Amino acid sequence: METKKFLLNERDIPLQWYNVVADMPAKPAPLIHPGTKQPLKAEDLYPLFSKAAADQELNFTDRWIDIPDEVREMYRIWRPTPLVRATGLEKLLNTPAHIYFKNESVSPVGSHKLNSAIAQAYYCKREGVTNITTETGAGQWGAALSLAAKHFGLELAVYMVKISYEQKPYRRSIMQTYGAEVIASPSMSTRAGRAIITERPNYQGSLGTAISEAVELATSTPNCKYVLGSVLNHVALHQTVIGLEAEKQMEMAGEYPDVVIACFGGGSNFSGLAFPFLRHKFSGERPSTIFIAAEPSSCPKLTMGEFRYDFGDEAGYTPLIPMYTLGHNFSPANIHAGGLRYHGAGSIISQLKHDGLIDAVDVDQLDTFKAATMFARSEGIIPAPESSHAIAAAVSEALKCKVEGKAKTILFNLSGHGLIDMTAYDRYFANDLSNYHVTKEEIAENTKQLEKIL
Ligand SMILES: *Cc1c(COP(=O)(O)O)cnc(C)c1O
Repeated sequence: METKKFLLNERDIPLQWYNVVADMPAKPAPLIHPGTKQPLKAEDLYPLFSKAAADQELNFTDRWIDIPDEVREMYRIWRPTPLVRATGLEKLLNTPAHIYFKNESVSPVGSHKLNSAIAQAYYCKREGVTNITTETGAGQWGAALSLAAKHFGLELAVYMVKISYEQKPYRRSIMQTYGAEVIASPSMSTRAGRAIITERPNYQGSLGTAISEAVELATSTPNCKYVLGSVLNHVALHQTVIGLEAEKQMEMAGEYPDVVIACFGGGSNFSGLAFPFLRHKFSGERPSTIFIAAEPSSCPKLTMGEFRYDFGDEAGYTPLIPMYTLGHNFSPANIHAGGLRYHGAGSIISQLKHDGLIDAVDVDQLDTFKAATMFARSEGIIPAPESSHAIAAAVSEALKCKVEGKAKTILFNLSGHGLIDMTAYDRYFANDLSNYHVTKEEIAENTKQLEKIL
């Protein structure tokens, strides 16, 4: 029988993260200070982030960055994660393709987000910070950070998008179990929150608003830092443990991927899997590997957005980021893949996409649940609605292989499991879900308002 699962030992947990910027043929344009409109310096970020994270954010030169022992020690709870050959799915699709997935769903909180949460909480602790704050949409990032904060003895306040706070109580319970304070956003605890509530009393919240609230709390509270779960370069950096492990595991399987796929919210799990493989494309060793970011058609920043400077949050507190964006005030439809409802892509990914080094596809909500159900029934794991975008893209590539009679090797990231998202599956089975598309006109209307910012 063929080997299905490729496992590493604890000593194979990477010693260093891979900083892709050092190898990029064209570097991303600089982040811009929203006040001075000058390129941002690491010092500009020190009031907001830990110093280590701020330095990593602007590090364009060091290819490898050491993972602190305390972080590796905590990674040992669940890392290295398995690489699995999806033989059940291959059989179901009757495809000549070889499909592999990296299983990040085995973390204690059920997603890849813990890889960066631990690193960021650790740096805050090391620098003498006592309180941290963040935002969360569907709750995966908040859950990961709650566990990390407790481990390092930090107090955490999480601004959770109000609609999720009310409709998805289980991740709130998880955060509270780990000891975090969870506040529904918009809230009356910040100026940004009060402004929105006054203007729109029934507003159900968005990730952008929650970021504004968390940033405001961090900058107005002594010894409090802000921690972000995606989009920024240092978050992508921490996630590269995924791809570095997968690289070794693909070697064990005796294969190298032709296609690397991950779902795309702000880009952290995609970056984590793709960057280590991309370095072999840059070096010319593996020029033909293709990289596909799978995003929802209701929030298609990479496939339909504009490449320009925009804010990372709704209120305009963050630095200006050179990004593919739908506009920072874009309100995506309320799809179940809450972690993918973000208006922009990080600066590294945006530059790579602009230079044609990575590709993107958009996937309809109903297709993601169809793929998720096939995957659950053939591989036994119920995927997160976010991860199901990657599965749908992998299925589509595998079916192309069948038509073309080619046996390509496909690798995708299973960023999380869906056991806390069963309401979404219920609605799918009850034919109660729809597809949402955004038109070019709607996007143009939205991005037109960006002209005054830079
Ligand atoms: C948050 C999340 C995502 C999307 O975020 P990225 O930063 O794009 O990776 C994807 N999958 C899961 C399971 C998540 O929790």
